[in-house]
Amino acid sequence: MVTLAELQVRTLGPARHPSPLAQYVGGRATNEYYVGEDDRILFDDTIELIRRRGLPLEELPSFETGGPRDTLFFDPKHVRVGIVTCGGLCPGLNDVIRALVMELHEHYGVHDVIGFRNGYAGLNPEHGLEPIQLTPGFVANIHERGGTVLGSSRGAQDVDVVVDTLQARGIDILFVIGGDGSMRGAHRIAQTALERDADIAVVGVPKTIDNDIPHIGQSFGFQTAYSRAAQSIKAAKIEAEASINGVGLVKVMGRHAGFIACYSALAGHDADFVLIPEVPFSLDGDNGVLEHVRRKVRTQGHAVLVVAEGAGQEHLPDDGATDASGNARLADIGRLLRERITADFASRDEEVLFRYFDPGYFIRSVPAEPSDSVYCSRLAQTAVHAGMAGRTDMVVGRRRHRFVHVPIPYVTHRAHHVSPDGDLWLSVLESTAQPFDMR
Ligand code: ATP
Ligand code: MG
Repeated sequence: MVTLAELQVRTLGPARHPSPLAQYVGGRATNEYYVGEDDRILFDDTIELIRRRGLPLEELPSFETGGPRDTLFFDPKHVRVGIVTCGGLCPGLNDVIRALVMELHEHYGVHDVIGFRNGYAGLNPEHGLEPIQLTPGFVANIHERGGTVLGSSRGAQDVDVVVDTLQARGIDILFVIGGDGSMRGAHRIAQTALERDADIAVVGVPKTIDNDIPHIGQSFGFQTAYSRAAQSIKAAKIEAEASINGVGLVKVMGRHAGFIACYSALAGHDADFVLIPEVPFSLDGDNGVLEHVRRKVRTQGHAVLVVAEGAGQEHLPDDGATDASGNARLADIGRLLRERITADFASRDEEVLFRYFDPGYFIRSVPAEPSDSVYCSRLAQTAVHAGMAGRTDMVVGRRRHRFVHVPIPYVTHRAHHVSPDGDLWLSVLESTAQPFDMR
């Protein structure tokens, strides 16, 4: 059970500098725009959950509110900012970079912003990657392109070298846009800076196309990802429908969490089967996937499967391979299903036309859709307000339609999953009419 203490965000020190944002509200009462330091967003969202805790109001677990503060830790006149993007690509990275730069520039008058290139590698002088000066002119149109203008990378860097670089370059605030691994890295950077008594704020904007980081609401880029995946499912449906005994399979991203599979399947209601890492299934036997697919083809004339890349890994050999950051490499469940389903039809002398769609990298690299672009900008603005107020070792998120600050350790201690007992999975079962249990 979470406690209030676990949700407390670290601060570099007392705020002393009046925020220049006041100039923008034309002499109106600024407390309407500024976030009250004592106002917090409740962790629990039902009366029953709150009642169960049996705690007085002030002790209920709650998040610090994101947004502009009237007094800042950093003097905006003398602030130097660094931005880094790490891990895999995700729609919206450039929107976040753009909004960080513009918010710093326009509202805080902070013009000294550099972008470290190729992830944490750009913070290690050994790699010889010179940072880029990020000006409003440079970032003006970057949101129109997918990817990240700063580049990215995986692989460990020595945290002491990274903090040496930040100190040598006089960085006051480092914004890290990256996934779970990057946030673990950001936490170590923040810790090391605190141990050295260096006033460096480290603020994360969590990136996960799979939506598997907990406590941040929905992650940016996720909506774009599932709406693109839904287009592939539609194509698979059309192909399968047009063939005699057509089977369409779409493998979507989702290493450990099946959110993209669930949402993209729900978006078009074209999927007959959704397979996700959280819900184990059998291939063979009377209740296995092969049997159910064949039955579907017999009754409907075709079948469409949506498979998260991390689903059914227990059916594949684990060769222990990892990427440069030590993340396990997944075996290809889509290919296995194609082989097994076509072999199954062949063994019964039944015709099948199999269409395999793997939109993975295509989805990662597209620009963000408008809803995500808006979200990216607002997350980035929240991150800037937090950094200027001296918050560190935290990420921004959105809970109950409010922007919040969450301590990094609290978002890296576990992953966010589709609950097999939850209402999302129930919606998927309802939409696909697939069996409740295929084991
Ligand atoms: P994604 O998985 O969504 O692509 P990620 O941020 O998890 O993004 P990783 O490649 O795992 O991607 O990590 C990015 C960077 O963070 C790498 O440079 C890696 O060395 C660093 N990192 C990963 N895990 C840790 C950790 N436990 N401690 C410190 N740094 C880490
Ligand atoms: Mg990761």
